[in-house]
Amino acid sequence: MTKALKKPEVLAPAGTLEKLKTAIHYGADAVYIGGNAYGLRSRAGNFTYEEMAEGVAFAREHQAKVYVVANMVTHETDAEGAGVFFQKLRDIGISAVIVSDPALIEICAAEAPGLPIHLSTQSSATNAETLAFWQEEGLERVVLAREVSMDEIRQIRAKTDIEIEAFIHGAMCISYSGRCTLSNHMSHRDANRGGCSQSCRWKYDLFDLPFGEERQTLTSGDNAEEPFSMSAVDMSMIEHIPDLVENGVDSLKIEGRMKSIHYVSTVANVYRQAVDSYVADPEHYYCRQEWIDELWKVAQRELSTGFYYDVPTENDQLFGARRKIPVYKFIGEVLSYDADTQLAVIRQRNHFRVGDDIEFYGPGFTHFEQTVTEMWNEEGTAIEKAPNAMMIVKMPVAQPVKTGDMIRRKSR
Ligand code: SF4
Repeated sequence: MTKALKKPEVLAPAGTLEKLKTAIHYGADAVYIGGNAYGLRSRAGNFTYEEMAEGVAFAREHQAKVYVVANMVTHETDAEGAGVFFQKLRDIGISAVIVSDPALIEICAAEAPGLPIHLSTQSSATNAETLAFWQEEGLERVVLAREVSMDEIRQIRAKTDIEIEAFIHGAMCISYSGRCTLSNHMSHRDANRGGCSQSCRWKYDLFDLPFGEERQTLTSGDNAEEPFSMSAVDMSMIEHIPDLVENGVDSLKIEGRMKSIHYVSTVANVYRQAVDSYVADPEHYYCRQEWIDELWKVAQRELSTGFYYDVPTENDQLFGARRKIPVYKFIGEVLSYDADTQLAVIRQRNHFRVGDDIEFYGPGFTHFEQTVTEMWNEEGTAIEKAPNAMMIVKMPVAQPVKTGDMIRRKSR
């Protein structure tokens, strides 16, 4: 008899209210967002209390959850007002707050009882004893450090029943999670207080300098070498969903609160399909090539499995020449479709024109391709191009599409 598997949550990033709704529409069970304080993405579109309330109402309608990230390192006076902040989140109906600093954890527990607390990956939790410690402190979930291996997850799960959240997709730090001060030194922006300037991804001159010798640049002249960057490749665990489910991971986390709705919809859509397929029929499950291909349509760097199966070497982990370059560009979203006339109303998000090969995709992994044969602007005038951001156009679409479906354009 096949054992019943616990279906893990698909947890998506949401930098804005639009991304929150998109992620849930495309299958996320939960989203994580930032408030106006205490988070680590000072440049992401952080939420006001009113936006949070609207996001929570939308999530509830769709049986989804909203978590708020408050995982900065707090210096003296940084935590002022945190109690009121957590109380407001609780009263709005936020499902949990993701925190790393013990000061904020204490404040949240004391001043906003009833608001569940998750430990952020910034705390670098890597073993069962650490998870047990935080469970005794009253936390419901721990987001593991990205440096934990799959074998370690299996061992941790065997020793503790606290919820485990693990990253499955998105950007990686070249430094140990939550331990990087490169940005602080290079640009005076504190990576652990919301200001990372991604200094690891800059280009550097690299020197091999024996003690006492004068420095010689190797980036020009006869011995020229490529500038050196520590930019890490991205993570993708799409080919390893069974390992994550079998080892008892409760929440599968997608990175990227600063990423686009194209990225969020695509990645949530793929992992929704993979998790549902595996849990429904583990014996006949296989990772479909079309899921991998789909993730490549929004990939920005090469993809790897991070630290899950081995400690990566510099060759595995550093981002070199792209092996694959995305050939798709997000161009619009469907606002409505008339089945009688087979005309769709589209909101433009990037330039496209008559003759372009485009692809429609929607929740539930529905896809089809067609060519733009003709289109009209809002006044009903035939147009050859849709050059203006957010302009509304009408076009014939051969198959039924739904409100919220997205459109990509293939490279010309
Ligand atoms: S500088 Fe790079 S390694 Fe350091 S926190 Fe920023 S992204 Fe991560």
